[in-house]
Amino acid sequence: MTADLGRLKEVLQQELEGGMADALEGGMDGLLVEQARGEAPRSPLLRMVAALPPRGYRELDNEGRRRWVRRALATIAADAEATASGGGKRRKATPRRKAPARSAAGNTKRASTSNTAAPPSKIPPGAAALDVPLRQARTKLRGPTFDKLEKLGLVTVGDAIRHYPRRHNDFSLTVPISELVAGVEQTIRGTVDVAREIRMGRGGRMRSTEVQVTDEAGSRIRVVWFNQPYLARSMREGAEIAIAGQVRAYRGHATFQNPEYELLTPDKDGGTHTGRLVPVYRLTERLAQRTVRELIANRLEAFADRLPEPLPQELRERHGLMGIAEATRQIHYPDSAESLAVARKRLGFDELLAIQLGVVRRKQEWQAEGDAPAIDDRTAADEFIASLPFELTSAQRRALNDVQSDLARTVPMARLMEGDVGSGKTVVALAAMLATVASGRQAVMMAPTEVLAEQHFRTICTLLSGGPEPPLNGVLPVPCLPLPLRAVLLTGSTKAKQRRDTLSAIAHGGAQIIVGTHALIEEGVEYQRLGLGVVDEQHRFGVMQRSALKSKGKDGSPHLLVMTATPIPRTLALTIYGDLDLTVIDEMPPGRTPITTRWLPPDQRSEAFDALRAEVDAGRQAFVICPLVEGSETVLSRAATEEYERLRTDQFPDLADRIELLHGRMSGKKKNEAMQRFASGEAAILVSTAVVEVGIDIPNATVMLIEGADRFGLAQLHQFRGRVGRGEHPSLCLLLADDPGPEAEERLSTVERTSDGFKLAEADLELRGAGELFGVKQSGVPTLRIASLLDAPLIDATRREAEALLADDPELASVEHRELRLQVIRIAESVVDEQH
Ligand code: ADP
Ligand code: MG
Repeated sequence: MTADLGRLKEVLQQELEGGMADALEGGMDGLLVEQARGEAPRSPLLRMVAALPPRGYRELDNEGRRRWVRRALATIAADAEATASGGGKRRKATPRRKAPARSAAGNTKRASTSNTAAPPSKIPPGAAALDVPLRQARTKLRGPTFDKLEKLGLVTVGDAIRHYPRRHNDFSLTVPISELVAGVEQTIRGTVDVAREIRMGRGGRMRSTEVQVTDEAGSRIRVVWFNQPYLARSMREGAEIAIAGQVRAYRGHATFQNPEYELLTPDKDGGTHTGRLVPVYRLTERLAQRTVRELIANRLEAFADRLPEPLPQELRERHGLMGIAEATRQIHYPDSAESLAVARKRLGFDELLAIQLGVVRRKQEWQAEGDAPAIDDRTAADEFIASLPFELTSAQRRALNDVQSDLARTVPMARLMEGDVGSGKTVVALAAMLATVASGRQAVMMAPTEVLAEQHFRTICTLLSGGPEPPLNGVLPVPCLPLPLRAVLLTGSTKAKQRRDTLSAIAHGGAQIIVGTHALIEEGVEYQRLGLGVVDEQHRFGVMQRSALKSKGKDGSPHLLVMTATPIPRTLALTIYGDLDLTVIDEMPPGRTPITTRWLPPDQRSEAFDALRAEVDAGRQAFVICPLVEGSETVLSRAATEEYERLRTDQFPDLADRIELLHGRMSGKKKNEAMQRFASGEAAILVSTAVVEVGIDIPNATVMLIEGADRFGLAQLHQFRGRVGRGEHPSLCLLLADDPGPEAEERLSTVERTSDGFKLAEADLELRGAGELFGVKQSGVPTLRIASLLDAPLIDATRREAEALLADDPELASVEHRELRLQVIRIAESVVDEQH
């Protein structure tokens, strides 16, 4: 019996689309075992199975799974083709269109592919050729090289063609040797006069190659490759060669050191490594740039024309976009800087369009059913607002109005409420929660950490009851509601008995306001009538969590309100947060005390600690944030522990028992105790890693001292700074940096000068990319390969196109959109891949 590869192919494709969840009943391993029965030893299926780890598919992480699945699909495609072309019967070779010669010099012929392309009979026609495994082509490359290529994600011909370069070296300037200028990238062409191995370095241990090259005009130059003695053998005297790089003066003579080179023959006249804009690729360990470049150049020439065009012609014309095949050729081997820009625009368009199709689709899915409760009575929220000891700012009023309009509709709300720390988001969210409760539904508020969940719980109890302590059992008589309300807290460390009681109160409707961590959306938590989910700090809340929340609404979808203190530039709000409507609270409540920010160079360290000391002596409290060191949570925690010990023994021995430590490796209970002692004022100084970043509210804290401030992003520094200045006393933010470079100095003085979170976020996005904006690399923040998340016009254009395309064809199911749909999956995969 032979395995049903057709069925397997389907399963594998579903697996790719479903995010490698191994959701099949019995698992992928089960299916493979079943199919492998009675298979011949070298069958495609057994080869696939052999590529799995000992305990099978389930043992692989997501990335490993994806790699395996794609390789397996390539194997199936190749097998199907081999079968179709029949036992040895040669199929007519598909005509290979040679890419037109192009180079800046205009006279460079393209490399021939004759020695590397697979025999014609093995190459399927049309786009199917792109699925052929790279391994299958006849090349000089060997198995281990392919293993390394696979680590880079290059399994098939299509993967290679779509592996875009990181940048280019501009070797387009070809000059006579006599006109070489030091420090400029240039190419020369000439004849090898002498080629020999030389020994250099101490004791002659470094075996290297030295070559003398003479050009047409008779000028001569010395070229050296360190540590590569074998090159001497391939560079025979009399050989024609092109050399590209920068010349340096060495003992008074111009010399090329480790340049790019290309041996020229009548049918190979350069143009891959020299003499033009030359691509530079991302590599893995022990994989040579030349190898990857040659592999890609060959596949590109043979197969770029097979790339199917995902964008409808009409759309391409409207935006003046280059065709996919030409853009792909140009992004690797551009004719000029201008055509590189045009290619980048085209491929960047594809990338952003894929993101937009993803987020617009996600929004449509969330809102598809229109089955949310319409909560249109504003009385409870209004009365609650009126009961507060302060007036809402006009920004808060606008935000609440946005939220209430959303709640009044049966289309589930999907809104992001963004406002600087201390701008008063919680009050707005709580008003919405009360409106929900008044309508007979439950409202949850979910925070990313236990410390924050507890703080939210206390804040809510305080705001509702006017007292600081959580009342017995969380029962609160709330004037704006007809009946007392019960608020409960559920986190991972809620004790078993309490947890049972809380779960039952949630399930039977005895609790109306539920605060907690991700524990709230875990399996086994049942809600009686969930109406609203409020999520604090969106970037830790992904797609999976959102659908978990949705599934908790039994008689319809809950509304969703997401809050974040990270200022999100408009371009990000339209891309990675494009599935949410945006409300910005851009105004601070009045009467906030100013925060003075000072950046202190190393020789003023002691002044910083003196200033901190003075505040503590005056009865205030201080945060000390430890630098972001490279490495794991353990390393970070160790750094914090060391700083803590240093402060207790050297800096402030008399305060030793009023200093607390907080880091990620502490148990929830220990973290809590430390926070509690600091919040109550017992502790004067809290030494912490970045875990303290979000949301902590301690009005008596007036000093934020940040060690190694140059290692943090600007937006993150701004968030730290927001931890102080929350009470009546003026506050200080002190930035310390051991050895900042000029660029870091500039960044630190930017933080010193500006208190505008948006400006800082935009600067961050520009300098360090979106991943950094949120402090740590977060899942869900894509790394784009080509497009920029700052490119507002392109973002706007792709947004409109995505909306139009999906309005027409919500699933992109039509034949015309087939390629586009595949491309969305592929790009979504690759932009997430590169974060790992
Ligand atoms: P955020 O969550 O946006 O960081 P909070 O909602 O925690 O801010 O508000 C910070 C503090 O300001 C809280 O103590 C809150 O009670 C108070 N607050 C909120 N809105 C106002 C306002 N309009 N006027 C005065 N104080 C306010
Ligand atoms: Mg907050």
